[in-house]
Amino acid sequence: MVTEKLLNELNEQINYEFESAHIYLAMAAYCADQDLEGFANFFIVQAEEERFHAMKLYNFVNEMGGRVVLRALKGPENKFDSILDVFKKALDHEKSVTKRIYNLMDIANGEREHATSSMLRWFIDEQVEEEATMTSIIKKLSRLKDNSHGIFMLDTQLGQRVFTPPTA
Ligand code: MG
Repeated sequence: MVTEKLLNELNEQINYEFESAHIYLAMAAYCADQDLEGFANFFIVQAEEERFHAMKLYNFVNEMGGRVVLRALKGPENKFDSILDVFKKALDHEKSVTKRIYNLMDIANGEREHATSSMLRWFIDEQVEEEATMTSIIKKLSRLKDNSHGIFMLDTQLGQRVFTPPTA
């Protein structure tokens, strides 16, 4: 049985994942405003992934007989200096998510709540991928600097990203 402490932390994470979706949608809006539709698409898909994460936790809490409690979402950052700045902030955000997931895992392990630990393992693996994706794009953008042709190529590439709900 999930303790009240763990349940509260899981609820906090559900809200944080919805907040993440909001943060990425704001990033998408900045990219669209810069006429970078591919980058915008990348973040729209990212936002969909975050909603998926939120719902995965939401369904888990329900399954465990807990009560999901939603709260008002914090307003996202809407001001960015450049496309590189956007990705640096996205990576910082993912690092904060990873810290939260690790903290949740520590609590679940401490309570010997094996079902929750097992569910969280998926998120731990997912975070490795999330951080790697952002890091890879930051490296590319840093190398490209103001090479508009290269940025256009990357924009085209990121425009192909589609959301596919994970099956595992
Ligand atoms: Mg997430």
